[in-house]
Amino acid sequence: METSAAAEVTGICRDLLRIDTTNTGDPSTTVGERVAAEYVAAKLDEVGISSVLHESAPKRANLIARIPGADRSRGALLLHGHLDVVPADASEWSVPPFAGEEKDGFLWGRGAIDMKDFDAMMLAVVRDWQRTGYVPPRDIVLAFTADEEAGMEFGSQYLVQKHRDLLEDCTEAVGEVGGYSYTVNDNLRLYLVQTAEKGLNWLRLNATGRPGHGSFIHDDNAVTALAEAVSAVGRHRFPVVVTPTVRRFLQEVSDALGIDLDPDNPEIAVAKLGPIANLIGATIRNTANPTRLEAGYKDNVIPGKASATIDCRTLPGQAESFLAELREIIGPDIEIEHIQQQPAVETEFGGALVDAMGAALRAEDPGARTVPYLMSGGTDAKAFATLGINCFGFAPLRLPPELNFAALFHGIDERVPVEGLEFGVRVLDRLLRNS
Ligand SMILES: [Zn+2]
Repeated sequence: METSAAAEVTGICRDLLRIDTTNTGDPSTTVGERVAAEYVAAKLDEVGISSVLHESAPKRANLIARIPGADRSRGALLLHGHLDVVPADASEWSVPPFAGEEKDGFLWGRGAIDMKDFDAMMLAVVRDWQRTGYVPPRDIVLAFTADEEAGMEFGSQYLVQKHRDLLEDCTEAVGEVGGYSYTVNDNLRLYLVQTAEKGLNWLRLNATGRPGHGSFIHDDNAVTALAEAVSAVGRHRFPVVVTPTVRRFLQEVSDALGIDLDPDNPEIAVAKLGPIANLIGATIRNTANPTRLEAGYKDNVIPGKASATIDCRTLPGQAESFLAELREIIGPDIEIEHIQQQPAVETEFGGALVDAMGAALRAEDPGARTVPYLMSGGTDAKAFATLGINCFGFAPLRLPPELNFAALFHGIDERVPVEGLEFGVRVLDRLLRNS
């Protein structure tokens, strides 16, 4: 079934890749989000879908459009994709990262899998509907966001806070990161559907002491106290906790692979997973990694204060117990300052939409089997989930078995298989028609 959506998805994705939407985290050097949102608006407008751009700050544009469904009494389905990308250093790439080059069956460029591929799929599908007069079963809300790659403040969080009314009736959401294949053998591919995300908690540890001269005996040194706390955190292994999503993942995978996995002993289980072990390793425990240090201003002066940043990622339901454990590790004298906090999210792997995902995949790939997974990072789903929306990561892609997909996220030579894009459009179309 070669729909015209499949025929145009590659061109749309290429156009989007050629718009540099680098998000550096610094608004003064972040570019392109407005240009990309205007491109999306024009593509929608071309087929008669009106949309509105919502700027959270100059040129930080978010786009929202609504396609009325047949049954308007049902809750809407939110489809979302971010338009920004992480920076790319052209000197490290084998092709220019913002040229949208096509070679060896792939479309290359920063954002090819994160996530202009899905942005293009959404556009291709709804444009095809509009051209053929197709009306989806329920309202579809399209959201193209800014700032997913640097905290979401100017993107999904802004939409949720300032334009809640546009999203409020959405009951489910489909976005990144999931829907891609992991090949077990010729007849079996696992497609990982993201149903949960770890929480993010960036903390600053502050140690204070008595300032003084570096030549004296000094037993109240802030740098020493901080260093002890930081090394204790960095060396600590948090205990294994198997959340419902991970338990289900391990059961499904063990069944699919025909290997014996004990969900109560997941470390052994995870080690058996081969190439996907990496993906899962960080999803069975909380983590806390020291990332920055700051102290002192002169070689012979003991400063009164020293601080360190810790990047903490917590499992669903673990935020409070994690903090209690962290306090135990660092002791009572270090102050904990919260820099940024985003809760973990988890939704059930079940229901009509999940069934429709499986059916849509199997129609295009008879060897498909869906499994839920918990993602160790975070996405726009965190913001949308605060509205009570059940969020799924499902941007369908059938991948060549040899491709190290996980390494391409924010990686060098990011690329998406053209056949995978076309496959994704067909699966997304089927899913939405049965949602
Ligand atoms: Zn992304």
